[in-house]
Formats: sequence, structure tokens, C-alpha cells
Amino acid sequence: MGMVKAAFIDRDGTVLDNMGYLNHPARVRLLPGVACGIRLLREAGWKIVVITNQGGIERGYYTHDVLHIINLRMLELLWAEGALIDALYYSPFVSESPCKKPNTGMIERAVRELGIDLRSSFVVGDQLIDLELARRAGCPSILVLTGFGLGFYEYMRDKVEELSPIFIGEDLLEVAEWVVNGEGSYYLGLKKGGVGKEL
Ligand SMILES: [Mg+2]
Repeated sequence: MGMVKAAFIDRDGTVLDNMGYLNHPARVRLLPGVACGIRLLREAGWKIVVITNQGGIERGYYTHDVLHIINLRMLELLWAEGALIDALYYSPFVSESPCKKPNTGMIERAVRELGIDLRSSFVVGDQLIDLELARRAGCPSILVLTGFGLGFYEYMRDKVEELSPIFIGEDLLEVAEWVVNGEGSYYLGLKKGGVGKEL
């Protein structure tokens, strides 16, 4: 039985330039290095699972259909650079829901549907809720300094430290390089020795 490891990647501010409530495919912009980072992770065996809160739907700012068109545009831009994603989950809720981050519903569903082993997986995102999501799910977290990440890192450092991300990277590419070629594999328990746990 193979061990399926996943990179749970936030969308807005991590993959896409943060535009607030993104409501048109023409406004979709990949952040620099994202496609390359996703390629690196996927080639090294990580399933790429995008998990995103889209409360703009419940707020009535855009519909499910508009969200799908925007997500397809994101996939198209990634495909053009040879970067594939394996799955995407979104929560349309503003109100409390088991699937709204930092609750773990989306991760639980991905684990069920894709057979993911959380011990060697990680969550990466630009907000405290992404780190909190990882804590609740029982897997490691990584903060990126794109999107809201820099502000959290500079002005709410204590909150970031409380949630103990295993790495803080400038962008998704730096994160992918650390995970694939750097010390990440020790932290994620994929190699013996180092600072990670032996499996
Ligand atoms: Mg985000």
C-alpha cells in the first residue's frame, strides 16, 4: 500500500494574487514561482490539493458558477506552465461550518477521497487560519509571505509562533524547494535522521 502524501495549498494569497473577493476570470493572476513550485512538489510525489474558503458565495458576491470559471482559469494558467493539481475543495460559507477553514472538513474529505496520509502531508497558506487548520488536522504547516503572510509575520509574529509552522517561505517556490530539496523531508518524517521523527 503506497503512502499518499499531499500538499494542501491555500488559493488566494498563496497561488493567486489576492484581489479580495475575486469575481472575474480576467482578474486571475498567478503569483510568481507558483507553477514551478507546484511542478516540483508534484514531481516529488505530493498530491496537490487546493483548499480554499470562498465565503463570497454565501455573502452573495459571486455564484458557484463564477467560482468554477475562476478556478478553471487558474488551472489553465497552471497547465500552460506544466503544473497540474490533483483536487480542489472550497467552502462557500461565511457562517460556521465544519468545512470552513480553520475547521478540518475539507481536509477530512480529501483524506477519504484520495487516501492521504496526514503524517507526511502539510498545509501551506498565507493566513493564521491556514496554520490553525493544520494544527486541528494534526499535520505540519508552512506560512508563505505572499498575500497576507508578510503582515502576519511582521505584525503578529507571536500568533504565528504559537502555531509553530515548520517553515516560513517567501513564496510557494521557496516552500517547494525547502520541502523537496531542503530539510523539509526530515520535518515531514520522510527521511530518517535529521530533526524529523523516524517512521
Ligand atoms: Mg489565503
